[in-house]
Amino acid sequence: MKNGHIVMVPFMAQGHIIPFLALARQIQQRTSFTITIATTPLNIQYLRSALSSTCNQINLAKLPFNSTQHGLPPNIENTEKLSSLHDVGKLFHSTVSLEAPLRSLISQITKQEGQPPLCIISDVFLGWIKNVADSLGIRNLCFSTCGAYGTLAYISIWSNLPHRKTDSDEFWVPGFPQNYRFHRTQLHRYIRMADGTDEWSRFFIPQIGLSMKSDGWICNTVEEIESSGLQLLRTFLQLPVWTVGPLFPPDAQRGSKHRAGKEPGIALEACMEWLDLKDDNSVLYISFGSQNTISASQMMALAEGLEDSGRSFIWVIRPPVGFDMNGEFREEWLPKGFEERMKDTKRGLFVHKWGPQLEILAHRSTGAFLSHCGWNSVLESLGHGVPMIGWPLAAEQAYNVKMLVEEMGVAVELTRTVETTISGEHVKKVIEIAMDQQGKGREMKEKANEVAAHMREATSEKGEKKGSSVRAMDDLSRIILSPKVL
Ligand code: UDP
Repeated sequence: MKNGHIVMVPFMAQGHIIPFLALARQIQQRTSFTITIATTPLNIQYLRSALSSTCNQINLAKLPFNSTQHGLPPNIENTEKLSSLHDVGKLFHSTVSLEAPLRSLISQITKQEGQPPLCIISDVFLGWIKNVADSLGIRNLCFSTCGAYGTLAYISIWSNLPHRKTDSDEFWVPGFPQNYRFHRTQLHRYIRMADGTDEWSRFFIPQIGLSMKSDGWICNTVEEIESSGLQLLRTFLQLPVWTVGPLFPPDAQRGSKHRAGKEPGIALEACMEWLDLKDDNSVLYISFGSQNTISASQMMALAEGLEDSGRSFIWVIRPPVGFDMNGEFREEWLPKGFEERMKDTKRGLFVHKWGPQLEILAHRSTGAFLSHCGWNSVLESLGHGVPMIGWPLAAEQAYNVKMLVEEMGVAVELTRTVETTISGEHVKKVIEIAMDQQGKGREMKEKANEVAAHMREATSEKGEKKGSSVRAMDDLSRIILSPKVL
């Protein structure tokens, strides 16, 4: 017997849709709620393909959307198809147009079921949903697909623009201890430039402000790995925060292209065979997530440093900044003969566009992950005890790296953003630190293994003994069923 309906609305980016789907699956497995994920038609197609490989009953509802009405090219409904930051800004603004379709979906559900949904779980970027929920007397919970520390830094910086109140490069972010400092270079350029009136501020400030007034937050993190970040976030929000992470796809989806609805640039078997030939912890995995790439000069330096390091690597590679990220890769972007030399000596495996990330990270040969440190990548890496080399490029990634380096001791930072100039020598030095089986590299590995153990415990359930994320999920279902106090 179903006991109520939950509607979930993600922001249209792979790094949001993947954890939303994982959260929907968790709720579906542990409760008897009916679940509907509502998003735009092309994202529904992706979700349908991701769902088709596992048997389940998550409903998908299309919210009509026409990208050209928002000044975007035709058929653009996801950040991954966008190479210009200006267009990404337009996509953010366009989400507000989903209000009318969401309202009609809810009235349709209400008519069919004789009662409105119990709850709308909305993306932190879609604050306008709080107004929809309030006007219909429905509970609204906000799902932040980031960690607690990164979430706090991100929402507080947008709400307060603290870097605009000082000339100094270092500044305090409200919500963090008074003596704690962030650096201007940790801000993405659109936040660095934001003054409260620009196109980014006009979207993020009101949307995040509304999300901060929701009835509670769900975080894709683990109580034991981010205890101080969580304490600070709870104090800042003055709301309940449930930690239900790490939200990974079910085992049945490992190795399946349906996991991300994307065609990998290499057959999984070929990738695993290549890794099988390598020693334990000897391979560096490199990827900058689903929607970022580095500059042409940085790409050259990265290749030079890799070659000089003598280490084996798998590099998920895309055209550099300024070129179509989904276009053909040109040889000239790498040092002359580099790709052949690495292939011939079996030192390097190049995967174009999309790699089987979870499977690579789970392989015993993977020793470290050079990553932009998007939160899903962080959880996937640490969940497999793989320490990281941070190279943050956008969103809250630099705050994640700060926490991974300063609080957790599981990462070393290579550089920040696409704007810096780096040398092959520097790349080599940082790779050596992270891959070293002694000294700092070893320390990072041990700490990453401890984090992995906490993650396993948090999601484990042995009879009455439940991990923290399982207990949080139970509590969340109880709250969803309780009457909303108006
Ligand atoms: N991903 C993948 N293969 C790739 C690139 C990304 O499977 O080549 C997956 C990755 O495992 C993660 C997600 O896409 O689940 C990326 O999310 P993240 O938060 O790390 O970064 P974002 O793409 O949002 O910047």
